[in-house]
Amino acid sequence: MPARRKLIAGNWKMNGLHAAGLELATDLARRLASAGTVGFDMLVCPPATLVHPVAGTVAGTPLAVGGQDCHPKESGAHTGDISAAMLVDAGARFVIVGHSERRQNHGEDDALVAAKAAAAHAAGLVAIVCVGETLEQREAGQALDVVASQVAGSLPAGADAANTVIAYEPVWAIGTGKTATAADVAEVHAHIRGTLAGRAGDPDAVRILYGGSVKPSNAAELMAVEDVDGALVGGASLVADDFWAIAETC
Ligand code: PGA
Repeated sequence: MPARRKLIAGNWKMNGLHAAGLELATDLARRLASAGTVGFDMLVCPPATLVHPVAGTVAGTPLAVGGQDCHPKESGAHTGDISAAMLVDAGARFVIVGHSERRQNHGEDDALVAAKAAAAHAAGLVAIVCVGETLEQREAGQALDVVASQVAGSLPAGADAANTVIAYEPVWAIGTGKTATAADVAEVHAHIRGTLAGRAGDPDAVRILYGGSVKPSNAAELMAVEDVDGALVGGASLVADDFWAIAETC
């Protein structure tokens, strides 16, 4: 089985003005530099306005930068949107697509998420494709089916371990302080890996992150779960000490 290096990704969401964003990214880049060899890759996904300055500030360090969304088209009359090529141009190497906040607040469905991931791939970005069930779906016993169907519908042709990361983020665990149990996470991640067969190159090589209220106090347990290849962290990624402490559990 190929070794999967853990990825610790920070999703800053709609947080961070210029000075604070640069300070946070600089702090993390410094810690990475002084830590030397570490057992994880680290990524920050600032708001769109900060992708370019953050990427410029951390250039030459191992800290990677990503966007939080991209449009499926290359260019055109799409007021307020950002293309994958623009993110690359700004210094990003990754982009989150299909986050539940976009699926819910912007009505994004699996087909659109797949089109965004395809656009990301075409531009040379790694797409972090998010999936996850709602509380109602979990309580109705549908979590595995919902997540499998989201994975199947949200991965474009040509997805593989080099251009795609999956993030399992149960909607009810995002920003709520509630985390899925290690047993729940293990079950869903194994199911996702099974769903990847025939859809994403070598399924054993694809990284599957867990996200939803990951914090220093629960990270070690979650990161030790089989098939958990890192974390997509929201709130705790805004505090350098917390984000670093999560990464250090890897
Ligand atoms: P949270 O967010 O860590 O604040 O729960 C995770 C996410 O939405 O990516």
